[in-house]
Amino acid sequence: MEHPENNEKYKGLTVNAGIEQPSSVNPYFKRKARKRELSVQEFVEGITKGDVTILSQAVTLVESVRPEHQAVAQEVIEKCLPYSGNSIRVGISGVPGAGKSTSIDVFGLHVLERSAGKLAVLAIDPSSERSKGSILGDKTRMEQLSVHPDSFIRPSPSAGSLGGVARKTRETIILCEAAGFNKIFVETVGVGQSETAVHSMVDFFLLIQLAGTGDELQGIKRGIMEMADGIVINKADGNNIDKANLAATQFRNALHLFPAPESGWTPRVLTYSGFYNKGVKEIWDMIYDYVDFVKANGYFEYRRNEQSKYWMYETINEQLRDSFYQNTVIEAMLAQQEQQVLQGSLTSFVAAKHLLDTYFNELKK
Ligand code: GDP
Repeated sequence: MEHPENNEKYKGLTVNAGIEQPSSVNPYFKRKARKRELSVQEFVEGITKGDVTILSQAVTLVESVRPEHQAVAQEVIEKCLPYSGNSIRVGISGVPGAGKSTSIDVFGLHVLERSAGKLAVLAIDPSSERSKGSILGDKTRMEQLSVHPDSFIRPSPSAGSLGGVARKTRETIILCEAAGFNKIFVETVGVGQSETAVHSMVDFFLLIQLAGTGDELQGIKRGIMEMADGIVINKADGNNIDKANLAATQFRNALHLFPAPESGWTPRVLTYSGFYNKGVKEIWDMIYDYVDFVKANGYFEYRRNEQSKYWMYETINEQLRDSFYQNTVIEAMLAQQEQQVLQGSLTSFVAAKHLLDTYFNELKK
């Protein structure tokens, strides 16, 4: 049968020469001038006026690794510091699937309805380093909050070590507070180290748990439970209510075995359903009770001061570490010293001393 595909000249898809493009489709179109970079003063004025676009731009600078951006960011943060601090900072943690996004959406709407002010949702996601793109704090996961005029949602900074990511989130808190956000949520995945980082920047640490097969207590690290000021069991709805209540009892019993927290507050365990918006008010009653309690006994101030101290040392440590490891002479020596340690021709301590001495000598040059 005669068919074009049987012809050996047939090439399948052919692209014909097109027509010449007109010079411009829209004669009135003007290319936008590149955005001028704002000055420190303009950033600070914009932020303290509550301009969210300028706030976002400042956060982008905080997250940038470029030294010139960092220099501006640090100055902006310093100038915003006097306007910050007037907020309730809540850390929210839970394993993937625990219902963090669903819950933050309803928690957020609840607090915005309940009292005046604005809410910022930030995140610390340790996995972002590997995946180069964080999902925590993503707007699409919080459908109602993301379109609320009084909310600001920012995904986790993605570059750098956990310490670096956490520092950027802490700095973002300062900027948000200066912009009038008086409720701050910091979300993290409940898998380990990142909780410590979140704990070091919030007033209340809320742990979201699920009722499961009865062995839920085994899966959760003791250290994380000890950090929690409140444990809430999500998905207490439908057939799951009894299981959730049972899990709550188990958590309460387990908490009794821990030493009393420094704050003097006894952590509470509640059940709720984020999806059906049940028991959400009680969670916020608990958080407000806590804040009243620790403001009255002085722990609120104390914890914030301790956190400032912690971040001072963290920043020093981070910069010293970077300065050491990024030193070109050290970089060149490291592998070779490591090799000698592995071969047993140098002890770890001698190698470390050797490297540090070299580093300090380099600094003197
Ligand atoms: P995240 O990974 O911790 O952010 O969890 P998500 O908020 O994405 O929730 C994971 C899944 O659990 C989704 O399919 C939600 O619809 C569901 N979910 C969240 N909260 C509840 C709840 O209170 N009850 C029930 N039955 N399902 C829920």
